[in-house]
Amino acid sequence: MAKGTKSAAKRAFKMYIDGKWVDSEDGGTFDVVSPASGQVLGSFPKGTADDAKAAVEAAVRAQDAARTMPIKERARLGVRIAEEIHRNIKEYAVDCSLEHGKPLRESIAEVEDAIPNIQWQVEDLKRWDSPAQEGFSKENVLYMSLHEPLGTVVTITPWNFPWVLPAEFVVQAMLAGNSVVFKPASNTPISAVHLMECIDKARVPPGIINMVTGPGGEVGTTLVEHPLVDGIGFTGETTTGLDIAKRAGLKKLTLELGGLGPLIIMDDAKVEPAVEDIAFGCFTTTGHCCVANERIFVHEEIHDKVVKALVDRVKKMRVGFPLDAETDMGPINNRSTLLKVERHVADAVKRGAKVVAGGKRVPGMPTDLYYYPTVVDDVPPEALFNTAETFGPTAPILRFSDLDEAIEMANAPRYGLSMAIHTANLRVAMEAAKRLKAGQICINEPVYSWDYFNPWGGFRNSGLGRIAGRWSLDAFSELKTVMFNVGRSPWPD
Ligand code: NDP
Repeated sequence: MAKGTKSAAKRAFKMYIDGKWVDSEDGGTFDVVSPASGQVLGSFPKGTADDAKAAVEAAVRAQDAARTMPIKERARLGVRIAEEIHRNIKEYAVDCSLEHGKPLRESIAEVEDAIPNIQWQVEDLKRWDSPAQEGFSKENVLYMSLHEPLGTVVTITPWNFPWVLPAEFVVQAMLAGNSVVFKPASNTPISAVHLMECIDKARVPPGIINMVTGPGGEVGTTLVEHPLVDGIGFTGETTTGLDIAKRAGLKKLTLELGGLGPLIIMDDAKVEPAVEDIAFGCFTTTGHCCVANERIFVHEEIHDKVVKALVDRVKKMRVGFPLDAETDMGPINNRSTLLKVERHVADAVKRGAKVVAGGKRVPGMPTDLYYYPTVVDDVPPEALFNTAETFGPTAPILRFSDLDEAIEMANAPRYGLSMAIHTANLRVAMEAAKRLKAGQICINEPVYSWDYFNPWGGFRNSGLGRIAGRWSLDAFSELKTVMFNVGRSPWPD
């Protein structure tokens, strides 16, 4: 038995509706299996359309309580949730590693990251100002715009960051004055239950935050289509985002979708930091990241040096069980992603690319989901690596000869979440920053970068709207203008 699996004895988890831990209305369940050990970690209620509706109804009943809660009290709840997370970081991180597959130190960093994420929003809530202006068309009129909660917000999250992504949506929607229904990914719901435990212990009033587990095709679609839902915060694949946009009607949408981020290495870049950033951005969390370096464009003048240093670096990485301290990279989270990675590698090789590191599953592991960190060189632009998100532990290298060519390749697939360039030349960096079409441009940093306060979101196929810091509060609210005709108020005698 692999190390750490003792703590993974099967547990029975529940959903959280109207302040109570409940089973599915028809008693159905599904198992969550660890990609790291192959063990069943727990059984979950397989929520139905009726469960989803019950959660929305509970949230709608709680709308007034959420809307009228003083900002001071909302802030206090946010702080208490963050404190509850802080109490059990290690325990939550172990579960996160077992259900996701990422190394324990990455899970610890992820759970820890949820805390400042929430605290930041609390501080932004305290300073959440809105415009006021004197009239232009009418004299003596004062306009004041007030933030108004949407009402009931649905948040749907993916499996790749089971703590950070819910922590960007669920608590924030409540802080903005909404009631919330949260549907986590079916591959990683244990972390979601832990977040709900923290919300419960923080004494968030019943119905204000609810969680329903179960398939996206039933629970997710029911929530998205529900006529009493006012807003949706979704993170996931572009194809799912498109489906949600079609079903949602005129609900306020915030969609955080797929990446395909390019990292451009110019001929004047320093090799060592560039290679460090390639390794970090391709292999952290097994490459399961919307802001992974999905495509590495290397200037032909520096190409051989970069590839040699990268291969040396990658060959030192240890693939292993996520709870082992020496593990650098764990397994791929699920079979469909593993098969996609294999498909993209085979496609590139068929088109003339060369696998220079990895390129196969790791034998002798507890499951067959372990895959070597992989470098594929001389990938042609028409390869799948350059047109569709791989979402796995791969560094596909494409050559280019000048900045125009790199920018054209970067923008071509119409994804635009995060893009990066390494160069010593500030003028080149700013030229790229202006011409690359993405929500974030990283200069001398990997594509894989973010902070708690930057307006986060994509251009084109990478999404709609912005989150993080005050932008999440804006995403989950409307602006309502109140106009006063001050001139019509009598002047006291
Ligand atoms: P999916 O789109 O497959 O699933 C995301 C969530 O949506 C899950 O909870 C899923 O439920 C649910 N879902 C599935 N189908 C529907 C539907 N028709 N209606 C409503 N909900 C549905 O994404 P993945 O989980 O595979 O996540 C990986 C993707 O997320 C990548 O493309 C990645 O780039 C993107 N992502 C984007 C980020 C960003 O900030 N832009 C951040 C992180 C990831 P179930 O699990 O039950 O299927």
